[in-house]
Amino acid sequence: MKTWLAVDIGGTKLAVAIVRGSNILCREQMTTPSSQSPDAMTNALSELISPFLNEVDAVAVASTGIIDHGILTALNPDNLGGLNQYPLQQVLIDMTGLPVTVINDAQAAAWAEYHALSSSSPSLINNMAFITVSTGVGAGLVLDQTLQIGRRGIAGHAGHTLADPSGPRCGCGRIGCVESIASGTAMGVAGRSFLGESSDGHKVYRQHLAGNEQASLIVQRSALTIANLIADLTISLDLDVVVLGGSVGLAQGYCDMVDTALAAMPAIYRPKVMTATAGNDAGLLGVVHWAESNFEKR
Ligand SMILES: [Zn+2]
Repeated sequence: MKTWLAVDIGGTKLAVAIVRGSNILCREQMTTPSSQSPDAMTNALSELISPFLNEVDAVAVASTGIIDHGILTALNPDNLGGLNQYPLQQVLIDMTGLPVTVINDAQAAAWAEYHALSSSSPSLINNMAFITVSTGVGAGLVLDQTLQIGRRGIAGHAGHTLADPSGPRCGCGRIGCVESIASGTAMGVAGRSFLGESSDGHKVYRQHLAGNEQASLIVQRSALTIANLIADLTISLDLDVVVLGGSVGLAQGYCDMVDTALAAMPAIYRPKVMTATAGNDAGLLGVVHWAESNFEKR
């Protein structure tokens, strides 16, 4: 069995772990460098990874952004600042001298959730979507029991499908994406009308739970938008299961609101909706599963 160095690169944190099979043997994390310059990222990765290099056989990375042939790119370049077009895979090969696999973090999390579900009910799930509602709206697709990556690494970016043609402009440049309405960031923007400039998604959600009607309308709009996304994906891809994750997706009562919105639709649009179980380590575990199965194919 290989010993993996798993790396999770998020907008706010960098995490590394030693992983064997489905076991995380040790885990470290640090804050993503705020300057977001290529040099700052390379230095931070080096600092985090160096202590573990003698213990591992290969490196598996789950990263925010689109991973196009090992290069980190973004639908919304502002999200990555100076890291757009960062040659992540080559940097890590040069740094470690080891084989390096890199995929998108929502794709990796989808694969982790699929593994968790299929180990308890093998072969029952053929097609699955994982949707994370958090700062943004990310997704990953498993079709015919295989994680979808796509030639350019884009597969599964369902947060940028259309929710409302007269909605706000999304960070990607398109008008009315799901992310521009349903994400925690979008809820925070919508909450400015009554919470002021310091409004954010967490504050809106707390107000919703406290019974504030304006806040509840915003949260309900988010949940309805995600329910419509689930219905669209289900009728397009014949999904068996949708797994909902992320800080908004797992917030108190959110999944129930999505379920309620789906219940108003014809049965054919309604897959089984479950909440994510792999938690903070989903990206780390998912990319190791993915890298391991790809190594076996070689
Ligand atoms: Zn978009």
